[in-house]
Amino acid sequence: MMTFGDKRLHIQEVSTRDGFQIEPQFIPTDDKVALIDALSRAGLAKIEVTSFSSPRAIPALADAEQVMQRIARVPGVEYSALVPNVRGCARALQADVDEINVVMSASESHNRANLRMDCEQSLTGIREIAALARGRVHLNVSISTAFGCPFEGDIDSARVMDLIERFRQIGIKRISLCDTTGVANPAQVHRLCGKALAACPDIAFTAHFHDTRAMGLANALAALDAGIVRFDASLGGLGGCPFAPGASGNVCTEDMVHMFNAMGYKTGVDLQRLLELARSLPALVGHDVPGQVMKAGPSSRRYPLQEPQLGSGLVCEPAASVEQAPDSRVAQSSRS
Ligand SMILES: [Zn+2]
Repeated sequence: MMTFGDKRLHIQEVSTRDGFQIEPQFIPTDDKVALIDALSRAGLAKIEVTSFSSPRAIPALADAEQVMQRIARVPGVEYSALVPNVRGCARALQADVDEINVVMSASESHNRANLRMDCEQSLTGIREIAALARGRVHLNVSISTAFGCPFEGDIDSARVMDLIERFRQIGIKRISLCDTTGVANPAQVHRLCGKALAACPDIAFTAHFHDTRAMGLANALAALDAGIVRFDASLGGLGGCPFAPGASGNVCTEDMVHMFNAMGYKTGVDLQRLLELARSLPALVGHDVPGQVMKAGPSSRRYPLQEPQLGSGLVCEPAASVEQAPDSRVAQSSRS
């Protein structure tokens, strides 16, 4: 049963990594820095700034070092970066990130497609990265395709639980459960998140959903109900996965904040500021973005009620019929 309350929720922004990585047009470094700086001042708990991947693999994020160097860090905000391997980890440490996010898939085929290695090789890499990062920065492991794989279909929750246990043995304290291609449903999310939290109360779990099939916010609520308090989201709903056919954007940050705020949860995020930033995205990326509240405005928005003046032309019918049924005319004219 869902409970509502004043729990503090951590909203973690991923647009400048998960979103920008698949943009066909290179976003200029100046624009990335400006957006991250603005996001930093919006009250987000964490920002996944970039990825220290091979510039050949992800040319959109080839400026990872410059971006990290030039952003103005706001105290209290964590600055994270994704690393695909040990080499990326060394670069991220050099760039003085607060957190390293290393990714591996629950499914063998997605891991091969995304990282060009099998899961055992990934686990070996994560052990090496953990040894490098220990005592220096936080380490988060993102389990991609935790709820389903575009190549293999359903992922047994026992497989995910086994991975979580192996990460725990390595000393990992932060784990993201990622629905990389937006196939999870709320019942499944509730079950897996509940199991993970019950088995590992010492681990900080993040829920990372893509809204590919319009279940993103419902999944976030299911995760919240299971006890998750950390959520990844992407401004404007930007994002996708270059190696997962049909993947689309992450759950939209401002839509998620709008929902949580309206329900009475504390996110610490300035919704108005986020909405302004989201509205600047289409010009930045050169296309429309899926966010909805940025278009409709928050639910608290009130429209000026224009009292119809009889015969002023506000109503379409002749004045005579307005006199007969004024109420229905008013309702019709305000609905359009
Ligand atoms: Zn993602």
